[in-house]
Amino acid sequence: MANQNEDIVTYFQKLDRAFFMDELKEFAYMDEAIPIGHEQTISQPSLVLEMTLALDLQPDSKVLEIGTGSGFQTALLAAFSNSVYTIERIAPLHERAKERLAKADFTNIHFKLDDGSAGWEEHAPYNRIMVTAAAAQVPRELMDQLAIGGKMIIPVGTTLHQELLLLEKEEHGEIHSTVLEEVRFVPLKGKYE
Ligand code: SAM
Repeated sequence: MANQNEDIVTYFQKLDRAFFMDELKEFAYMDEAIPIGHEQTISQPSLVLEMTLALDLQPDSKVLEIGTGSGFQTALLAAFSNSVYTIERIAPLHERAKERLAKADFTNIHFKLDDGSAGWEEHAPYNRIMVTAAAAQVPRELMDQLAIGGKMIIPVGTTLHQELLLLEKEEHGEIHSTVLEEVRFVPLKGKYE
């Protein structure tokens, strides 16, 4: 696992964040969330890396991502897992992320334009779930779609105060929850807003 983490860090350091932005590219190398239009942001690079490492990806992982955004996080997930199912609710962001990730030669990413707060039932269960927008509470559907032994990273809280949670689904379906840190994400729209 140490090697996998080292590989993720090395890959991440070479991943050009500006490639995932259409505007404000001059700010691409700052460690800040940057607007990408539609009142959304490309996440802070250090947080993207930290969340990816905490998710403990395995080469055979089937990953669900809620909130494709620019596709920056999606690229990292797809490079270190078997397949990624990613959902975005804003059509222009969904389209641009699809174009970018095809251009970057990813063939293991499945895209959906939809409200992802209820997950993507058709392809469940998932070994890993990454949620990149903050929910008021953990969506029940996402917990149900997480495989036994699976892990989920999700920011939970209000607009002003959110905790980044690592949820692990244990052998008999019990959930083990760890607070990783305080964060500030855009809201997860839909019924868990
Ligand atoms: N990790 C992404 C990146 O670095 O580009 C950033 C994602 S941005 C912080 C959160 C994304 O979640 C936005 O693109 C937003 O439109 C999307 N989003 C919010 N609620 C959603 C929902 N219910 N279903 C799908 N996407 C949602």
